[in-house]
Amino acid sequence: MKSKFFVLFLFPILLSSCGAPKSETEKRIDEILSQMTLEEKIGQMSQLSYDVSGDVGGAIAEGRVGSLLNVVDPVKVNELQKIAVEQSRLGIPLVIGRDVIHGLKTIFPIPIGQAATFNPEIVEQGAAVAARESRSVGIHWTFAPMLDISRDQRWGRLAEGMGEDPYLGGVMGAAMVRGFQGNDLASANSIAACVKHFVAYGAAEGGRDYGSTSVPPHLMRNVYLVPFKAAIDAGAATLMTSFNDNDGIPGTGNKALVRDMLRDEWGWDGMVVSDWASVTEMVVHGFAADDKEAAARAVNAGVDMEMVSTSYVGYLAELIKEGKVSQEYVDESVRNVLRLKFRLGLFDSPYVDLSVPSPLYAPEHLAAAQTAAEQSAVLLKNDGVLPLEGVRTVALVGPMSDAPHDQLGTWIFDGEKSHTVTVAAAMREMLGEDITVIHENGVEYSRDRSVANIPRAVAAARRADVVVAVVGEEAILSGEAHSLADPSLKGAQEELIRELSKTGKPLVLVVMAGRPLLIGDEVEMANAVLYSFHPGTMGGPAIVRLLTGEVSPSGRLPMSFAREVGQIPVYYNHNRTGRPFRGGEVLIDDIPLEAGQSSLGNTSYYLDAGSAAPLFPFGYGLTYTTFEYSGVGVSAEVMEMDGGVEVSATIKNTGSREGTEVVQLYVNDVAGSIARPVKELKGFQRVTLGAGESRRVSFTLTADDLAFWGIDMEYKAEPGDFRVWIGPDSSEGLESRFTLR
Ligand code: BGC
Repeated sequence: MKSKFFVLFLFPILLSSCGAPKSETEKRIDEILSQMTLEEKIGQMSQLSYDVSGDVGGAIAEGRVGSLLNVVDPVKVNELQKIAVEQSRLGIPLVIGRDVIHGLKTIFPIPIGQAATFNPEIVEQGAAVAARESRSVGIHWTFAPMLDISRDQRWGRLAEGMGEDPYLGGVMGAAMVRGFQGNDLASANSIAACVKHFVAYGAAEGGRDYGSTSVPPHLMRNVYLVPFKAAIDAGAATLMTSFNDNDGIPGTGNKALVRDMLRDEWGWDGMVVSDWASVTEMVVHGFAADDKEAAARAVNAGVDMEMVSTSYVGYLAELIKEGKVSQEYVDESVRNVLRLKFRLGLFDSPYVDLSVPSPLYAPEHLAAAQTAAEQSAVLLKNDGVLPLEGVRTVALVGPMSDAPHDQLGTWIFDGEKSHTVTVAAAMREMLGEDITVIHENGVEYSRDRSVANIPRAVAAARRADVVVAVVGEEAILSGEAHSLADPSLKGAQEELIRELSKTGKPLVLVVMAGRPLLIGDEVEMANAVLYSFHPGTMGGPAIVRLLTGEVSPSGRLPMSFAREVGQIPVYYNHNRTGRPFRGGEVLIDDIPLEAGQSSLGNTSYYLDAGSAAPLFPFGYGLTYTTFEYSGVGVSAEVMEMDGGVEVSATIKNTGSREGTEVVQLYVNDVAGSIARPVKELKGFQRVTLGAGESRRVSFTLTADDLAFWGIDMEYKAEPGDFRVWIGPDSSEGLESRFTLR
């Protein structure tokens, strides 16, 4: 690795520090830096939240603030920017940040739902819409995408991420970065992305947000860092450090990962921001004795800007005097901040142009949000009841059937429920006069334990040809800090479903949730289950079109669904144990009395739950037709290190209507210098086929696709045998093999 590492990373850095010609921007940064006082430099490294910091005008005028978050009124933005540009000594503009996670006003499905599209173009489009709306009100910078891998359904924050798979996370993260940033960050349609939370935040112990993580070096490199690297390679302008301590080191104080790896090894020149007060929270962690030490640890780790807490402003000057932080580190951080401002074009064009017509809720934005919601829904079960055909009366029930706030999902600071189209509203509007909709929630909100209204829903069901029950969880039950010890349907929802199923009427469940819920029993009781996550502003029409078959479901699961809470974490790309579950192991009720210690076979399973297999595997999803896979083949039995192979299979639509299949490619490195996952996703393609149509679908694999961080912490592909599958999800597929040499 050393020599490759030198050529790829260190050499360019050395070259630039040895006087390679500087760009115009770097020269302008030098010029500004040479005029700045230490206090002004520290000011650039400070970000305040407009909503909590009170009157910030004075501090801006004195050059003590480099950035604000949470100011969204364009008139106010211009007013504050004017102070920075005209009243501060050097006229350095502010950069304005805001959490625009899945839309500003036009709300798209939550990110985990967007990941379920397996369609990076949808994700890119959604981010581009969010960028256009955001920049129009003066927001320059969003704190997204969140690329924390999560293998735990209890962790409410997984709503904001891309699921359990590093490859999918990387593809979707890069797409989101491209969507936010466009080709030119200075454009009126672009905002800076911020990949977060660096790093391993999604591996919180017990799925409790902010909890400690224990991700060791190989797992860190081979899984948790993968989406970050992909987003950085896609040009992400900024990155946020995380709250969690990994193996005792909080993300915001992790020099090995930020300064040594992100900067020196990856050669990245973007800007690093802390999470909200995560600098001073290192005192609470017990990683710093006081705010002053926390400031030193954060700057020395490479955190350029402190969000909300004020330890940089309070102590950096002293720390430099005492030699605990170098002037050089501070200058470097200020450079990174100024570079972001140049990239955003803020020095040339600091103000919001208030004369431009507002793009908020533009019809094309709403249309894109609807398409995203259509593609993010995953059909988990269907005995043929869907699509609804020949139906005269629909009973629409469930607490999420008309929940305009809650279907928007978490992180919608600027979303407005008055613009949401719910399933109830969409049915009224779209189903036409021939179809009667009887609407009875039965359970009023997702946590509602009252069973008082269930009989009304049951009565509605009895009068109908089909029951559509829109269940799930309110927005507040997922997102930051909203973890659940038992992520199953809350309140009286299970009871509602049970009573509805007893009517014998066909029962369709639509689940709007911020996470994969534990829904095994409910799936059993239903005839069809469509999992829409929180689908956003246009969720209603999207779901109605899916139910009626105007569009066919095409989403796939970006996370495995556990059968029960005790199985968590459940994820498809686990390592092989030396004693895998064989199938058919004895379960608790069948164990003979006084059975011998080893008589059950000593394999990896639960006596009371069987194997660790999920309810639904990663990559799973049905549609209104069926597909058959055949003829898997690899172009060569042997792949040279500098060559490649093509893996292909024929996919045939064997049903009677058009449909989209997400064809997935998985590999397994049979023996490595460290144990390798049983399967790893390496590619996917959305393929739309008419009834009876077939297509040969192929993927190219090169040694790069097979590389990983091995026993010596070198990143390379290792010679040996590989199994490869093309299939509809992570648990099925046609297998072939090749050898890498
Ligand atoms: C979250 C970040 C977010 C920040 C600013 C924090 O609590 O962890 O993801 O960007 O707040 O709102």
